[in-house]
Amino acid sequence: MISVSLSTLVIIYIIGLGGTILLFWFLLEKLLDTPKTSVAPSRALLRCNICLHTFVDNTGVRYIRCPVCSTLLDRQKNHIPADAAERQDE
Ligand SMILES: [Zn+2]
Repeated sequence: MISVSLSTLVIIYIIGLGGTILLFWFLLEKLLDTPKTSVAPSRALLRCNICLHTFVDNTGVRYIRCPVCSTLLDRQKNHIPADAAERQDE
């Protein structure tokens, strides 16, 4: 039988438990690490309020004119997410 003091046993327990938690944390971070898609922030899919025309804007300015009806559009309000646009196409 190995004789260890109570304080040594507690230290061994804490190191073992901490090491296990750190190992699982590291593995979980590696599993959940998704490749980052580098989309240019200036590029956005927008939809006009008036004529519902959907178009891609590359300028990066906040206010854009609709290419069909020339309505002034707010980039933040008329922006539609890319996954929402894909769902509409189906
Ligand atoms: Zn329009």
